[in-house]
Amino acid sequence: MNDITVIGSNMIDLITYTNRMPVEGETIEAPEFEMGFGGKGSNQAVAAARLGSKVSMITMVGNDMFGKQHIENYRANQIDTTGVGIGTKNSGAAPIFVAEDSNNRILIIKGANNELTPSMLDKHLDQIKHSKLIILQQEIPLETNYYAIELGQKYHVPVLLNPAPADEHLNIDYVSQVEFFMPNETELATLTNLPTTTVEEITLAAKSLVDKGVKHVIVTLGSKGVLWINETEHMLIPSEKVNAIDTTGAGDAFIGAFSHYYTAGETIPEALKHANHYAAISVTKRGTQKSYPTSQEI
Ligand code: AMP
Repeated sequence: MNDITVIGSNMIDLITYTNRMPVEGETIEAPEFEMGFGGKGSNQAVAAARLGSKVSMITMVGNDMFGKQHIENYRANQIDTTGVGIGTKNSGAAPIFVAEDSNNRILIIKGANNELTPSMLDKHLDQIKHSKLIILQQEIPLETNYYAIELGQKYHVPVLLNPAPADEHLNIDYVSQVEFFMPNETELATLTNLPTTTVEEITLAAKSLVDKGVKHVIVTLGSKGVLWINETEHMLIPSEKVNAIDTTGAGDAFIGAFSHYYTAGETIPEALKHANHYAAISVTKRGTQKSYPTSQEI
């Protein structure tokens, strides 16, 4: 059995770099196009696996050429694909348009990710209950996440929930059962309805979740670093000073790396510091999974 089970999404990033956005009815030529493997679940699985963790991916790819490519990508990253199903819809896709001023416009089509139902988890129960950590995000149906949290409780497997993208319908009764809740500032604000513009406000909002039963709230703060709070401790780890080129996928790099170090036996503060370092390296390179280093590269 593998140490980490990621139950989550896969997406194909279709990135067009353009000098300007076309207006309605207009066709223009763009200078550059890139394709990349993405989806928050897949990104986190890849980061943990590149560091040497044994990772199982439970996901639904589409019944199309992208689905096959996702499976090849998991294999190339030594990720166990036993839990990868092929849905009836097309693969999840994210057409991304990046303008010259580096502003972007993104559409997300979840496609086959919506077919990752609770019954799919029952098929892979043996892997789930023997993992050291279950990782969840919010690009699959919420009911599947709720079921995964119930399984974690039942079989005493800690659950890490990354509530991204933010969803105001997320049920706090389930959130309160997870070991690690890992939002960014915006996601924390959506769930708590509290302001999160300063470190003091973020601390108060995070504390409100600890008071509701979450063991550890870990808030990623971009270039400001990361804040960890539980019932007795409270720590702000500043980010490392690097020349940031592309921060896309930094949060996923952080979560994958934290999960690797934590399941390898490190304490939470140690795992946070190492994950902070890993995510800092990832922002110095362009791309999402492409920017994630291996343990040798660190
Ligand atoms: P975010 O998802 O933007 O909150 O970023 C996740 C993590 O990536 C942060 O908690 C940092 O560890 C790291 N990170 C993000 N942006 C930067 C940056 N500009 N410089 C260094 N580390 C960063």
